[in-house]
Amino acid sequence: MEKREMLYEGKAKQVFLTDDPDLIVIHYKDDASAYNNVKKATIEGKGPLNNQISTIIFKYLMEHGIPTHFVEQLGERDQLCRRVTIFPIEVIVRNVIAGSMAKRLDISEGTRPSNTIIDICYKKDELGDPLINNDHVVALGIATYEELDEILAMTRKINTLLTDLFNGLGVNLIDFKVEFGKTSDGKIVLADEISPDTSRLWDAETNEKLDKDRFRRDLGKVREAYEEILRRLTK
Ligand code: 5GP
Repeated sequence: MEKREMLYEGKAKQVFLTDDPDLIVIHYKDDASAYNNVKKATIEGKGPLNNQISTIIFKYLMEHGIPTHFVEQLGERDQLCRRVTIFPIEVIVRNVIAGSMAKRLDISEGTRPSNTIIDICYKKDELGDPLINNDHVVALGIATYEELDEILAMTRKINTLLTDLFNGLGVNLIDFKVEFGKTSDGKIVLADEISPDTSRLWDAETNEKLDKDRFRRDLGKVREAYEEILRRLTK
């Protein structure tokens, strides 16, 4: 497999073509951004940490029956993945209220609702990734109702698996964001990454934040928090 030209550059990752049209290389950068690119910084070592953390999580999910784009880790910053067409939605699972939902609906952060909440946001930077509903997804031509049902069922299964995984590590999975794509043969798979950049992870005993909120809210020790998550995942 040969790494070829860059296909796309995002805030935290770059995507490269390879000599195989069905495979891409995802490269994890140290760059961090928040609030729709208003706050930016470089967190030394974040790329390799997220690459390792996401690799462990994707392998765990695949072992438990979740289809993903992941093929293998290539060195400290790269991953070989299947090329997919990304559905331009972010599917957000909230087990505990935090972040934008706490603010938007004036609910104290840390409130645990009786149900699991799934939000869908339209991936469009110019609009600030607005919250949309199932009917909007279909009306915008992003997915059919059947495809969305499949995505949401997979998301709920991922939530159960990740909640179990993190509970065993003394971490509460507060919320997380996932993205899905379609392979050239029409299969819907989990794509992108799952890491402290895309989730809220609180220590179960102290409620200490071990995720990107340390960067968003200037709490310091960002890298150390990501290292702690990797340490617990590998112990
Ligand atoms: P919130 O809606 O509070 O901003 O985010 C809810 C959860 O989804 C958090 O775990 C957050 O990290 C993740 N999330 C939501 N939108 C994005 C995004 O655009 N990029 C990343 N990396 N994570 C997001």
